[in-house]
Amino acid sequence: MTADSVTQPQAKPAILTVDDDPGVSRAVARDLRRRYGKDHRIVRAESGADALDALKEMKLRGDDVAVLLADHRMPEMDGIQFLEKAMDVYPTARRVLLTAYADTDAAITAINVVDLDYYLLKPWDPPEEKFYPVIDVQLEEWANADHREVSQAKMVGHRWSARSSEVRDFLARNQVPYVSYLSDEVEGERLLAAAGVDDTKLPVVITADGEVLIEPTDSELAAKVGLSTAPAEDFYDIVVIGAGPAGLGAAVYGASEGLRTVLVERTATGGQAGQSSRIENYLGFPDGVSGAQLTERARRQALKFGAEMITTRDVVAVEVNGSARTVRFADGGTVDAHTVILATGVSYRQLDAPGLDELAGRGVFYGSALSEAPGCAGQDVYIVGGANSAGQAAVYFSRYARTVNMLVRGPSLELSMSYYLIQQLAGIGNINIRTNTEIVCGHGDEHLEGLTLRNNVSGEEEKVLTGLLFCFIGAAPRTEWLDGAAVRDKRGFVVAGPDLVVNGKRPAGWTLDRDPYHLETSIPGVFVAGDVRADSVKRVASAVGEGAMAVTLVHRYLEKR
Ligand SMILES: Cc1cc2nc3c(=O)[nH]c(=O)nc-3n(C[C@H](O)[C@H](O)[C@H](O)COP(=O)(O)OP(=O)(O)OC[C@H]3O[C@@H](n4cnc5c(N)ncnc54)[C@H](O)[C@@H]3O)c2cc1C
Repeated sequence: MTADSVTQPQAKPAILTVDDDPGVSRAVARDLRRRYGKDHRIVRAESGADALDALKEMKLRGDDVAVLLADHRMPEMDGIQFLEKAMDVYPTARRVLLTAYADTDAAITAINVVDLDYYLLKPWDPPEEKFYPVIDVQLEEWANADHREVSQAKMVGHRWSARSSEVRDFLARNQVPYVSYLSDEVEGERLLAAAGVDDTKLPVVITADGEVLIEPTDSELAAKVGLSTAPAEDFYDIVVIGAGPAGLGAAVYGASEGLRTVLVERTATGGQAGQSSRIENYLGFPDGVSGAQLTERARRQALKFGAEMITTRDVVAVEVNGSARTVRFADGGTVDAHTVILATGVSYRQLDAPGLDELAGRGVFYGSALSEAPGCAGQDVYIVGGANSAGQAAVYFSRYARTVNMLVRGPSLELSMSYYLIQQLAGIGNINIRTNTEIVCGHGDEHLEGLTLRNNVSGEEEKVLTGLLFCFIGAAPRTEWLDGAAVRDKRGFVVAGPDLVVNGKRPAGWTLDRDPYHLETSIPGVFVAGDVRADSVKRVASAVGEGAMAVTLVHRYLEKR
């Protein structure tokens, strides 16, 4: 098989011709190229099997195929058999059979078998009269239909698989363009067949370059979709841990002030803010801004100033090595720096009602999981929580779902949610707010099917049917890995600055002849910013502000060491 240019994804649409006679094959390709080569790729094969391989390769890359032109009499796989198989890969490509006069009957039969668009009698000279008018019509018909292949990454997963949902979320939050298919929908089946994978090993991700990743880990995905996963240098001025607003703020200010800065993130840039459907109270955005937009801009801004960013690296320790601070990753790798800024934020607490644990990612989601929104269409969705994050999610999901039901433990939203959001919720017809309500348990085997709710004043219980529950309760810092290294409060938030000096005594192990600076932790040269700091204000603006302030303190630390 020869393929003229099977190199560029999202290239020109292809016309594929297959003929076992090399002379005829070359002649067809030559005539096609002469007339259509400028706007189309001409792909030539000399057997049905080779042509199918070429089609599968193009399918995985998301290339368009406009016309399939197959010779009828070929050994092993004849033209009709080839077109029948090709239909499974490119059902909307126009199908033309090249046939001798003696085979006209077979060609007519093929009209039914493979829904043939045209049969062309050999010889086709002169092409201007007998060939091009036929192909012109096929190309025009193809162009008028809506059949474009998707040249971005494609994911095939199960509807109710926790890992499929995680991968969708990972791609979305890292701003990787992708299209998601279910394994039991037609296009999903086609992609799995083209990749030669069955549906027992899902999710499958097909990168924009056509590479097939079966059940990929986050770090495999990151590496294949072009995200950095390893630091380029051995030593930096600052390692920032966590790429939420605080970490992004620190990266922008650090890099813009000439400090060699690397930002290390476990999952995806943006942190909690990246999951927010609409932030209405961040300074400078009177019409609101989606968290993804805001944090994507911050990411580009940090990169512009020269900060380095690495994802899918989980930090598990910060160690003191003389004047250097060593940051250790879960996989054993390390990176060293003069200073560290901890900006690891908080994560949502798991609901501990029976039956919900097993269904996490299979109908029960923690945080917004905005990528699940299309799956809410026509559904009755439940949201637990009474803070702004829950309110925003309700507004967002109300655009997709039949009803959105907010379960609030307290008697009203007034104590926990901003006024503007309460007003907004009141104006949306398909949002119901159920105060004094708690979840007793979840129901469902493979995926969530229902919930038992209890009114905590009357004690009355009720079972409701739902397949989707989003939880926004009790955010907690996940800082166990700092045990014994940095002082934390009872709930795990990192204590900093003046709060470390108790009754005039500096924290244990503090070696410097000065008190800790404002955002400095009990490890000199290690600072903390944002939600993870004890007594912090849980807001985007304050996190960004603390990130910037931490950089100022890094300067002071570096000057006065
Ligand atoms: C849905 C939602 C809506 C919200 N809406 C608003 C709003 O409208 N206005 C507002 O002001 N605030 C809002 N908030 C709150 C706001 O988003 C947070 O206060 C803010 O994101 C805190 O920023 P942060 O950088 O401190 O932490 P986070 O945003 O939590 O980011 C921390 C990052 O650190 C990473 N990380 C954690 N541990 C590690 C580790 N060990 N190694 C590597 N990386 C790690 C995490 O993956 C995460 O990306 C909302 C929050 C949510 C969830």
